[in-house]
Amino acid sequence: MLQQTQTSRVLGPWQSFLDAYPTPKDCADATLASVLQRWSGLGYHRRAKALHDAARMIRDEFNGDVPSDVVDLRRLPGVGDYTANAVASFAYGRPVAVLDTNVGRILARALENRSLRASEARDAAQALLPRRDSSAFNQAMLDLGAQFCRSSPRCDGCPVAGVCRWRLEGGLDPAPHSAAVSRPQSAFAGSDRQARGRVLAALRVGPQSTAQLLARLGDVGDDRTASVIASLMRDGLVGRTGRLIHLSRD
Ligand code: SF4
Repeated sequence: MLQQTQTSRVLGPWQSFLDAYPTPKDCADATLASVLQRWSGLGYHRRAKALHDAARMIRDEFNGDVPSDVVDLRRLPGVGDYTANAVASFAYGRPVAVLDTNVGRILARALENRSLRASEARDAAQALLPRRDSSAFNQAMLDLGAQFCRSSPRCDGCPVAGVCRWRLEGGLDPAPHSAAVSRPQSAFAGSDRQARGRVLAALRVGPQSTAQLLARLGDVGDDRTASVIASLMRDGLVGRTGRLIHLSRD
C-alpha cells in the first residue's frame, strides 16, 4: 500500500483492511471484488489482486502461515526480492539484507561513491549486515535513507556523514542511476493509471455498461477508455456478464 502512496493516506485503509482480513485465510476466502472495494484510493490495483492471489497460495500451500523462507516467499504472486527479504527479516528475524530505493541511495553514496549494478548492490547490502540484530540494522538503514539520504539528501545532521564517501570525496551524485534506486514516475494526472482508477471507482458503485463507462470518462476519450477497460480485463480485475462490466467475481 505504501508504494507511491503517502503513509498518511494509507493508515486508515490499512487498519480497515486488517480489520476485515486479519489473517491470510480471511483475505483468501473473500472475493477479489471485496478486496478491490477495500483498496479504494490506494492505487496500483494489480497489487490488490496479487495480494489476494498470494493469500490464496498461503492458504492452500502453506497451511495459512506466511512462509519465512525467502525462496518460498518469492513464489508468492507479486512478491519480489525486496518484499521477500523484508518479510523474512522483519517478521522472522532472518539474516537477509533489505534493499529498497532508500538503501540503494546509501550504498551508492556513502559506501561506494559510484553507481552500482544490481548484483553489486545486493552483495554490498548483504556484506554490511551485522551477525546480530540484522532486522534492527535493516530498519535503521531504511530510516537513514528516508530521513537523511533522500533523493535530495540532508547531509547536515546525517549520522554517517563522517564516513560517507560521496560527502568526503565529492563528485556527481552516484545514486540516480544506481541499482534499486527508483526513477522519477511519470505524472499521475492524465495517465492510464488514473483512468484505470476512475473505471474501478465507477464499478465499485455497481456494474456498468460500456456506454455508461465511456460517458463517465468522456474527457479521456472513447478509444483510450476502451483500451483501459480491456487492460483491466486482461489483468483479471474486472469481468463482463452480458452487457455489464463489473469488478472481478473470482
Ligand atoms: S552524508 Fe549525505 S549523502 Fe552521505 S549518507 Fe548522509 S545524507 Fe546520504
